[in-house]
Amino acid sequence: MTDSESARRRIAEITEELSAIPMALPGSVTIRTYACGKAYCACHKDPAKLHGPYYSWTRKVGKKTVTKLLSPESYEKLKPLLENHRRMRELVAEMAELTIVVLGDEGELPA
Ligand SMILES: [Zn+2]
Repeated sequence: MTDSESARRRIAEITEELSAIPMALPGSVTIRTYACGKAYCACHKDPAKLHGPYYSWTRKVGKKTVTKLLSPESYEKLKPLLENHRRMRELVAEMAELTIVVLGDEGELPA
C-alpha cells in the first residue's frame, strides 16, 4: 500500500469517527478549591474543608476569553461535550496532515 493509499484509508476512518460526534463544546474547565481569607475558617486546617470545588469553564469568544462558573451537575453533563471538541480538533489536525500526504503523493502540491 502506498503512503497515499494508507493516508486515504485513515482519512475515511477519521471521517467516520467525526460523523459519530453529535455535539462539541469549546473551551476547558478548571477545577479549583481554595483557602479563604478568614483566619479562623476550618479551610486553613483541613484540606477536606477547602472551599469549592468550583468549576470554571473558559472559552474564546472572538478575541476575548470568557469564563463562566458551572454547577457540579452541569460540569458532569458538559464534560463529554468538551472531550468531543478536543477529539474533533485532534482528528481534524490529523486529517489535514494526511491530506498533505495524499496531495503530495499525487503531485497536487508544490514540492
Ligand atoms: Zn475558609
